[in-house]
Amino acid sequence: MSCIFCKIINGEIPSSKVYEDDKVLAFNDINPVAPYHILVIPKKHYESIIDIPENEMDIVTHMHNVMNNIARDKGFDKTGFRIINNCGHDGGQEVKHIHYHVLAGKKLPLYEA
Ligand code: ADP
Repeated sequence: MSCIFCKIINGEIPSSKVYEDDKVLAFNDINPVAPYHILVIPKKHYESIIDIPENEMDIVTHMHNVMNNIARDKGFDKTGFRIINNCGHDGGQEVKHIHYHVLAGKKLPLYEA
């Protein structure tokens, strides 16, 4: 198994965890681009959002609930935050295990499209 995020899930590679349950892991991004920058991933390996079968999309709802709870805990429900999912080559996805970036802690710049 060569997926770096699967290795983080099974403990082969260390991470700074901020939340974990039986389906989802959230951890600090190793190269933060904002004062607060975490990644939220499903424990089941899917390459990208487009690869999640329709009958397994509950995991996406669950990841969004996790992100909402983390945001409320940190007070970002009041200040705001950004959720990003990069999908595939043109989307800028480097790690081929679906992940949401959660960015916060400053007024974030608009990004290029
Ligand atoms: P990009 O690298 O362009 O942001 P992705 O959307 O695929 O593309 O994001 C991968 C993210 O994973 C990056 O923000 C990177 O810093 C992060 N990352 C890579 N390896 C690790 C690691 N071992 N621990 C924490 N974060 C990691």
